Amino acid sequence: MKPSHPGYLPVTGKTYTLFGDGDSTSGYYETIRKLADEVTNNNPLTEELIEEIRVFSRGKRNLRKCLKKNDPGDRMPAILNLIDPHLREYTEKVDEHLKKLPLRKFWDFRLATTREQYHLYMLEIELTNRLYVDKFLKADRKIALLPYCLQDFSVTCKADKNGFDYQCKHCSEICYQNHASLILEEHSIEPYIWMGGDMKQLAKYSFHENRTFGILGIACIPELINGMRTCRKNHIPVIGFPLNGNCCIRWHGEFFPNSIDLEELERLLQ
Ligand code: SF4
Repeated sequence: MKPSHPGYLPVTGKTYTLFGDGDSTSGYYETIRKLADEVTNNNPLTEELIEEIRVFSRGKRNLRKCLKKNDPGDRMPAILNLIDPHLREYTEKVDEHLKKLPLRKFWDFRLATTREQYHLYMLEIELTNRLYVDKFLKADRKIALLPYCLQDFSVTCKADKNGFDYQCKHCSEICYQNHASLILEEHSIEPYIWMGGDMKQLAKYSFHENRTFGILGIACIPELINGMRTCRKNHIPVIGFPLNGNCCIRWHGEFFPNSIDLEELERLLQ
């Protein structure tokens, strides 16, 4: 029998939280869906649109300028001005984090992500999901890559290497890896805790077997967008699902519990 979902407590990431000021993430998902609807009402959903957002999001200083001087005739600044005010409640701690970030760490574009970039990444994830979800679901082999920081740190994790990478052994009822893995398996998606599985090997194997494969990534927003872009560049149907916050050692210096919205994950796969 499928265990009931674990208690859903708000998590506060180092820079973002999908809970915003509330005690659930449903507000975030409703908001990002509405914004994506509005964007795609005015612009057809194509690879070109997503690629234009990717390129536009690189110019940090330009993004701030675009917010000050809104030209509605210019497509990318208009999109940024549309989404920015609605997504600010989810990224309140970004500026504080950037002020304290040592100069030597600014080379790491993930750690140095600005607030406007977070908002564009949120939109890019939603649009990419809309564009690729059908192709992903129709792939011969579907792989999900979960981050190890989603596990239950109060037990000794029993995940074990199995094929491509580590797989959950379902030892804890309050572990999000456990629940996410069960949902993914129900949809014929192979769930792996990504500890360094060789993607090139996987791509080669699928190529030789003449089978298509798709990837579902779960990660914090800066990591997720990076992985999704790499997949798109390599013509792999990809969809992505953000962690509720960025709570791992890379951001905080230690691990804090994290979560994902399991109902939204199910919704994405339907
Ligand atoms: S439920 Fe799975 S991922 Fe979570 S601690 Fe146990 S083996 Fe590890």
